[in-house]
Order: sequence, then C-alpha cells, then structure tokens
Amino acid sequence: MDCIFCKIVEGSIPSKKVFENERILAFHDIQPAAPVHVLIIPKKHIPTMNDVTGEDDAVMAEIFEAARQIAKELGVNESGYRLINNCNPDSGQIVYHLHFHLVGGRNLGPLLG
Ligand code: IMP
Repeated sequence: MDCIFCKIVEGSIPSKKVFENERILAFHDIQPAAPVHVLIIPKKHIPTMNDVTGEDDAVMAEIFEAARQIAKELGVNESGYRLINNCNPDSGQIVYHLHFHLVGGRNLGPLLG
C-alpha cells in the first residue's frame, strides 16, 4: 500500500517519534505550523474519520489519551493547544491515513482565521 504514514509505522520512512505503543504512533510534523506540531495516528490504516467504526473505539480512546499526555510532556497543556482532524478534500486532508494534529506553543488565533 502506498501510504506514507504506513511507511512511517513500518519504519521505512524515518520520523521523530514522541509516543508509541502497539496501536498508535505520534511523531513531529515535517512542516510544523506551530512550535508544537505533532501528528497522532493509529497504526492500522484507516483512510479518514468517515472510516472509523465501533471496532476502533479502543484505539480512538488511546489517541485522545496520548494527546493529553503529549500536550503535558511538551508543555502546552496549560497554555493551550488544538487537536485537529482533516477529513476529505474541503478540509485540506492531504494524507489519507487518519491523523490528528496536536498544535500549540503559540496563540493560534481564531479557529478559521
Ligand atoms: P493533512 O492536511 O491533515 O492531511 O496533513 C498532513 C500532514 O502530514 C501535513 O501537516 C504534513 O506536513 C505532514 N506530513 C507529510 N509527510 C510527512 C512525513 O513524512 N513526516 C511527518 N509529517 C508529514
């Protein structure tokens, strides 16, 4: 499968990991939009948010748990951060492997500003 994030999971493309367990991986975005910009992904290939099913409940819960932990470790839990998922073309989704952007470390301004 020609999926860049699956290749990062396999290790054939390098990444700067910040968290990993059997089911999820988090790594720094290659083109950070803020001082903190981490991508949190399931290791399982799920193309978009629309493809998440009840079978993925546990992994989704782990993604949110990891987000809280990473925000704390990277020092943005108190100052504030956003957790963003882009789904399909109008959102600007480029990589079709489910991921959540954790961004912070500066004032992010209005959501759609
Ligand atoms: P999307 O627009 O929500 O699909 O965001 C995809 C994100 O993946 C972008 O912020 C890219 O900078 C990031 N990205 C693409 N390739 C890599 C990579 O090889 N390593 C880390 N981040 C990547």
